[in-house]
Amino acid sequence: MAEKLISVVIPVYNEKENIPPLLEALREVLSSLSYRYELVFVNDGSVDGSLESLREAANRNDRIKIVDFSRNFGKETALTAGCHYACGDAVITMDADLQHPPSLISDLVVAWEGGAEVVYTVRRANRGAGWFKRFSSCLFYWLFNRVSEMKTEAGTTDFRLMDRSVMEVFRRIPERERMFRGLIDWMGFRRTRVVFEAPARKNGKNRYSYIQLLRLAMNSFTSFSLFPLRLAGYLGILITLISGLLLLFMLIMRWFFAPTMFTPIAILAVGNTLLIGIVLICLGFIALYIARIHAEVIDRPLYIIREKVNIERETCDLNESPGT
Ligand code: UDP
Ligand code: MG
Repeated sequence: MAEKLISVVIPVYNEKENIPPLLEALREVLSSLSYRYELVFVNDGSVDGSLESLREAANRNDRIKIVDFSRNFGKETALTAGCHYACGDAVITMDADLQHPPSLISDLVVAWEGGAEVVYTVRRANRGAGWFKRFSSCLFYWLFNRVSEMKTEAGTTDFRLMDRSVMEVFRRIPERERMFRGLIDWMGFRRTRVVFEAPARKNGKNRYSYIQLLRLAMNSFTSFSLFPLRLAGYLGILITLISGLLLLFMLIMRWFFAPTMFTPIAILAVGNTLLIGIVLICLGFIALYIARIHAEVIDRPLYIIREKVNIERETCDLNESPGT
């Protein structure tokens, strides 16, 4: 039987300066392993010439494959596309900015050889990330684990290795607004963790704005938890109880003890404001879910590819032999 194939999937959005050192580091670690390998770069609408430098590398080395998006679709989608085209016996996903140390790949592979089907990495320190990002990330994991139907560990990253069997299931998941990590965690399988220290980003800036991170967080809540929907319900009950009691108190006081204490207008205002609050909160959360249903039913493709380099195959089919 031919040697097994390892695919490395790397989303790229304006990473021109990082590509040469990344390729060098990957070559070093991958050639030290006794597997064949391929690098699947997904160019997520870069505008800085990343594509050209990838193309140049791909011309020299046909193990370097490129999936070129027609525009920026976001990292989660880029990772997904990469996994659709990466047919390895193991698929490794990592960032292009060298924050996911390529040297760790050998540890991931060792864990895989030991029988793990998902090897995920946990970031110890995230130097270069400000206190706000660290704080909000902590808050996110804490909340997510409280409210969702699955558990995910704080500090886990998209630097992962997935066995072929996991990828086969993954490729069938049609969900749109996705959180890659969350989906993989949700799928289960035999899992092992590897801990690493994240260095600061090598070149360029972090591309995720706080707004994008917030969106990602919201998406993971609505993907994996019905809590927001329930929260509206809980809030509704709470507010109705409080306002009901308050109203009752006001009415009793007015009728039996101090007829002039509360004007009818005040009573009406209390009743009304609280009702409006309830309605607005419910509407807000329902809208989140309707937006998701909408995204699923319009059935647009998840991404659009302008061009593929060194990839002849269609997406990896279930019965295809690895690496063809
Ligand atoms: N990335 C992408 N599309 C985007 C934003 C980022 O493909 O719209 C890639 C980027 O090139 C990098 C990885 O996703 O390889 C992580 O991005 P970044 O370093 O900005 O995120 P962070 O390290 O803050 O998670
Ligand atoms: Mg980064």
